[in-house]
Amino acid sequence: MRIVDIRETAVPLNSTLANSSIDFSEMTTSVVAVITDVKRSGKPVCGFAFNSTGRYACGAQMRARFIPRILKAPPDSLLDDAGNNFAPEKILAVMLQNEKSGGHSERSVGIGTIEVAVWDAVAKIADKPLHRLLAERFNGGKIAAKVFCYVGGGWYAPGKTTKDLQDEMRRHLNAGYTMVKMKVGGMPLADDLARVETVKSILPAGALLAVDANSKFDRAAALSYARGLEPFALRWFEEPCDPLDFALLAEIAGVYGPPLSTGENLFSTQDVENLVRFGGLKPERNDVIQIDPPQAYGIGQYARTLEMLKRHGWPRRCMFPHGGNQMSLAIAAGFGLGGAESYPGVFGDFGGFADDARIEDGFISLSDRPGIGFEGQARLNKIMRELVDN
Ligand code: MG
Repeated sequence: MRIVDIRETAVPLNSTLANSSIDFSEMTTSVVAVITDVKRSGKPVCGFAFNSTGRYACGAQMRARFIPRILKAPPDSLLDDAGNNFAPEKILAVMLQNEKSGGHSERSVGIGTIEVAVWDAVAKIADKPLHRLLAERFNGGKIAAKVFCYVGGGWYAPGKTTKDLQDEMRRHLNAGYTMVKMKVGGMPLADDLARVETVKSILPAGALLAVDANSKFDRAAALSYARGLEPFALRWFEEPCDPLDFALLAEIAGVYGPPLSTGENLFSTQDVENLVRFGGLKPERNDVIQIDPPQAYGIGQYARTLEMLKRHGWPRRCMFPHGGNQMSLAIAAGFGLGGAESYPGVFGDFGGFADDARIEDGFISLSDRPGIGFEGQARLNKIMRELVDN
């Protein structure tokens, strides 16, 4: 049993959207295929992944370092003890050979994307959906039937009016979601607060609203927004300041009562440990941590991060992995996390879930397809298959 080849291609997202800090007109993602010599239904098992949205493609590091290290390792050294399947933790260790400490984001996205593609192959070889495999290994076998899922929407777009924003949110609610999130920080404070108010005014009783500032604010702006947003009783206020400014985050947490969230721009277990040591966030406030596993060394490292967070008193219900794709969905389901994010109709072929996924009362159904389930997402599957078939 061996990995025959690992291929990567950079694909543009072709999005006209923007948050408070960046637009996505140049955004690309690395699609990865891990091709094995294991056969299922007469065809080689291939594992797939991509590096979520918001970080550019990173094929150069993969081709220069991580892929050659895996391909030149003795094949048996990458297998589990029984020799029946690949061992993702051994493949991660091989990718990290000769990498010095620190400097995580230069490599964590490339390594994490390959690692998640390995898990896709491992689950397919085991003939199980990835969420089931992860539940067996990391969550005492508690298999989720559905996952809480909210919409990351409310983007800034050219010509988008307040009415358009309300219509967008109504579409999400009509589709079955019970929680929506919108961008803030792309307009002056008074205009943004008016946008929040107008969305809040159409939410039915029990529905939740969160906002995302995408790390835009300096100290003065963050504190002004905290004061302005507090009366809206939001589910959370996301990335109110630079993702590594834990002192400022702690200051904001000291004056803002409702929950805060951050973590999608942290790439290592150590960074997340510093966040919970110094960032002022607390599980008792229902604060939320939003690591993106494929961008932070992958699923095995995510399991270690959860262990670290448990030592600091953080339960899994406070974890909402960033991503809005089937990778984060399988991880949220498999580890028994608080929920997942969704980007319906956004990020082209890379946003969203299986074509037959259903949202009901804020929960999304899970697929029984072996692996992550990309084969149930026709347009994305086509992009992935081209990497193998050409
Ligand atoms: Mg965000």
